[in-house]
Amino acid sequence: MRKPIIAGNWKLNKTPSQTVRLIEEFKPLVREARCEVVVCPTSACLFAAREALKDTNISLGAQNVFYEDSGAYTGEVACDSLLELGVKYVIIGHSERRQYFAETDETVNKKVLKTLEKRLKPIVCVGESLAQKQFGVTEEVVRMQTRLALSGVGVGDVEDITIAYEPIWAIGAGMTASSTEANDTIRQIRRVVAEIYTPEASQKLRIIYGGSMNARNAKELLSTSDIDGGLIGGASLKGDLFAQIVNAV
Ligand code: PEP
Repeated sequence: MRKPIIAGNWKLNKTPSQTVRLIEEFKPLVREARCEVVVCPTSACLFAAREALKDTNISLGAQNVFYEDSGAYTGEVACDSLLELGVKYVIIGHSERRQYFAETDETVNKKVLKTLEKRLKPIVCVGESLAQKQFGVTEEVVRMQTRLALSGVGVGDVEDITIAYEPIWAIGAGMTASSTEANDTIRQIRRVVAEIYTPEASQKLRIIYGGSMNARNAKELLSTSDIDGGLIGGASLKGDLFAQIVNAV
């Protein structure tokens, strides 16, 4: 009952003209996709991306948003601006934002609440570091991050949320969690959501995997019981590779 989703996180890559070129390259390749397809270019490329995505089956996502509507917040982008630019999804709490831009569980939660209020769909990232994995506290870490991210979110909004389980040690590392490992952690996250809300509500929310997913390993990861899709970094920057992942669903 959950439609799979494959989202490309382009990070700080591509100019507006390169964005259009990449979209033109892969849009014919994903026309028959059996999942939701999302691309998340930089904020500066959203306008160009929206134009290039007209009349396609591909949705637009942003990589970040601010939790206030307006005011003295130099450099930030508000939900209303994203909505005007045709954005549907927003990545929130990516580990790179937590690491380099002081994103905390508290600001992640504020952003989740604001995006839901504005009818944008958050893709909330959670995941453990290598040290946390080695200490055997993955479950505790993702449990805490999930609970804090969803604090104050009403049960009616749960189905608009996607959680991306992204082990930090696997991001951009060429090292992937095994499909069993990723599936088990995703099941734990779903259990946490069931504890907060109800088992029925937890079945409505998509939980996807991110961390060096590519055209070679996508099929195995996506054929597990609980992985509802992927958040793709590096491999989303090549049209043919991204299309292969989309078409692996
Ligand atoms: C990401 O940044 O969300 C990600 C999953 O990156 P990569 O696919 O490059 O590991």
